[in-house]
Amino acid sequence: PPPPPPPPPPPPPPPFFFHPQAAIRAAQESRGLGDVYKRQDLSLLGEEDRLILDKLRERGKAWIVGGWVRDFLSGISPKELDVATDLKPDEVAEIFPRSILVGEKYGTIGVRVDHPFHEDRVWEVTTLRKDGGYGDGRRPDNVNFGSSIEADLSRRDYTINSMAIDDAGNVIDPHGGIRDLDIGIIRCVGSPRDRIGEDGLRIIRAFRFMELGDKGLRDLDGELSKAISSNLSMIDKISRERVWSELKVILSGPNASSIIDNMRTHGVMDKILDGITHTEISGNSTNYCVNLALMCRTDDSNGEKLSSLLKEKLKLTKQETADIKFLHECRGIDIVASKSMARVFRASLPESRQRDVLDYLSCMGREVSQFETILGSLSELRAGNSPLIDGNILSAKTALKPGIRLGRLKGWLHSCLLYTSPSPRDS
Ligand code: ATP
Ligand code: MG
Repeated sequence: PPPPPPPPPPPPPPPFFFHPQAAIRAAQESRGLGDVYKRQDLSLLGEEDRLILDKLRERGKAWIVGGWVRDFLSGISPKELDVATDLKPDEVAEIFPRSILVGEKYGTIGVRVDHPFHEDRVWEVTTLRKDGGYGDGRRPDNVNFGSSIEADLSRRDYTINSMAIDDAGNVIDPHGGIRDLDIGIIRCVGSPRDRIGEDGLRIIRAFRFMELGDKGLRDLDGELSKAISSNLSMIDKISRERVWSELKVILSGPNASSIIDNMRTHGVMDKILDGITHTEISGNSTNYCVNLALMCRTDDSNGEKLSSLLKEKLKLTKQETADIKFLHECRGIDIVASKSMARVFRASLPESRQRDVLDYLSCMGREVSQFETILGSLSELRAGNSPLIDGNILSAKTALKPGIRLGRLKGWLHSCLLYTSPSPRDS
């Protein structure tokens, strides 16, 4: 007899649309977490996190949303908690009188709780929204408050950021975020062309979500990748501060160099650093200033020029500008592994600068390990690192007027202190 026909393929699994238990089960099975999943859920919430959710839930509904859900389901320790609620901003402010306005117009309140150790910590609590159009490519034209968590989730950027956890610990995942976490894909909620066309910041955020720490990288969905390359002009519409705040996170990650490579391939870095020569990031630094300086190391400008260009393009702080200037000026130096060099180095640079410049040079392939060993073995300066003698006394004793000669004498005395490390008595 002919063999029986093969059984029909099983029907595709239903989408995780409002089947939270199925979503949780799928998440548990795919990660082998079993029951631990739910127990972790509760323990990862801090005391204040729970207090905020509980207080909101006394008067309305509240969901955990955003990065907390994404990181939690990826097995990464979540950082800050983002909360969505059906209460209006003024009602949230009433419950938490120490609240500050983050974007009341857009429905976001910065909640602060009375906690002696966390007085200044802010939790972003956002009223459910169904957004209007994006006329300026930056912010929605008008924000309509809504009452549906699904509508709120569908205005969010990526599927992995568009999940919510309700008061019973159920995961609401209408856009396949759990599936995309599993396969490691960054995919827009809806059409990538439309979503990138609404808000250029999403371009930089897409690259930010590639970072998975020691688990490597997520990939951009093919359609998203095309939408980014063909909508680069959207980057011009976003404020430089917002660009820098997202780029800083990328440059601080363990996979910064691969992500920046990807951004360069898409033409994103040409757009952000227009007019500055940039190259790939070498080495494995997680210091964002060091990484920015490494990216710009092939630019011919001096430290002053490069740092002021970067300041203008990214709205760097004074400190960041000074750090980049300093590092770029150090790009040509070779460190001699000697005790005297190490002494001067230690005495003339604050510790954070010492670390940064050694990190920077080592990422460029310079040999610094011997120097670091010498630096670590230096004994304390026996007479300290302060000037041996006060300028006024020196001036009185030598009859030198304040000026270059007196300055040189002071410098010479200081170098005696560094090179010979005299005892306090000898000094
Ligand atoms: P992190 O963990 O670093 O805070 P995040 O995804 O929570 O990452 P937030 O800036 O805190 O980032 O934003 C919270 C949530 O708000 C996001 O997860 C996303 O759902 C939504 N969101 C933020 N920015 C945008 C945007 N430009 N367009 C659409 N949705 C956004
Ligand atoms: Mg967040």
